Amino acid sequence: MFTQTHQAGFLPVAQLNVLVAQLMAHGYRCLGPHEENGAIVMRPLESADDLPRGLQAEQAPGHYRLTRDPQQRYFAWANGPQAIKPLAFAPQETLWQVRRDAAGALQFEAVLPEAPALAIIGVRACDLAALALQDAHFLREGRRDPHYARRREQLFLVAVQCAEPAATCFCASTGDGPTPTAGYDLALSELADGFIVVAGSDKGHAVLAALNLAPATSQQIEAARQQGVAAAAAQTRRLPGRNLRDALMSQLEHPRWDAVAARCLACGNCTAVCPTCFCHAEVDVPALEGQSSQHERMWDSCFGESHGHLHGFNVRPDIRSRYRQWLTHKLATWYDQFGRSGCVGCGRCIAWCPVGIDLTEEVAALTAGEQP
Ligand code: SF4
Ligand code: SF4
Repeated sequence: MFTQTHQAGFLPVAQLNVLVAQLMAHGYRCLGPHEENGAIVMRPLESADDLPRGLQAEQAPGHYRLTRDPQQRYFAWANGPQAIKPLAFAPQETLWQVRRDAAGALQFEAVLPEAPALAIIGVRACDLAALALQDAHFLREGRRDPHYARRREQLFLVAVQCAEPAATCFCASTGDGPTPTAGYDLALSELADGFIVVAGSDKGHAVLAALNLAPATSQQIEAARQQGVAAAAAQTRRLPGRNLRDALMSQLEHPRWDAVAARCLACGNCTAVCPTCFCHAEVDVPALEGQSSQHERMWDSCFGESHGHLHGFNVRPDIRSRYRQWLTHKLATWYDQFGRSGCVGCGRCIAWCPVGIDLTEEVAALTAGEQP
């Protein structure tokens, strides 16, 4: 992010509003962090004055609390329960509808979403990595999902380097953070008196040019680099950096699956907050007048009983098999589909699990005795 010194600008903290104004002038509706129900969520904003300042997110297994940042930074919180995923892969939407016409024939019609140009301010490196995985799934050749594609192409991503990882974060070990390296339009690094701003796309370069910033100094760039190094070093959780496929798939009868199943509530929170999970269900919703129906897609979870139901039987009838499916898909067979693990180290599934199940602990137990 900070190697092209000549392209990095410096935005004084008092001028953060100028960035929001420029994004709007380029036709984007802006979304940014907002404090709601005790968590950070992405909501529309009109100016930088709408951004919360001085918040941090204290996170631990089964625990998320907003606290005060004594340095009054804008982006000292690590992440909230959601970021980009619901803005590209909608939690619920109509894919197509069917109506009976006057002659009694069925008329099928695709339903595509309205998708305004959206600038999202404050996305994290882990979320960019997760979006790349969602792209690999929804935009794969020959199976391009038009609903996802329409929203995705309208996104302008303003990433922010994480300077204060939560105790649940482990993106350094998965290679996905804490400093954004790809996938953004603009990336910010927050220093005490302002932001280093770099562009990562043509759209980003256009906005950066319009900001007309003074170049960042080499001292500022070095301070941002060191901030990223310190944030990575501060992470205490980790996943092994190697491909865990064989290590996990050779442990399908490990007693740890029973132990974790005894704790797991099969609530699906972990899959709802996970930025890479893409499972969904499709249902037909008939109108009461009996002449039309809508075909809807909604987020689903491999922890739900119906998700494993095939014709006549359930392939995952108990929580043990559902947790095992989730972990082994995410960390093992995902390699077969996408060439990498499905975990970007955001730690959300740890913080938002009501019983505090920690996948890094589960993996350590399942692979104990294997090569580190
Ligand atoms: S598995 Fe957990 S830590 Fe990994 S990307 Fe999903 S929510 Fe984040
Ligand atoms: S691991 Fe935790 S969040 Fe996931 S289904 Fe089980 S209890 Fe719910």
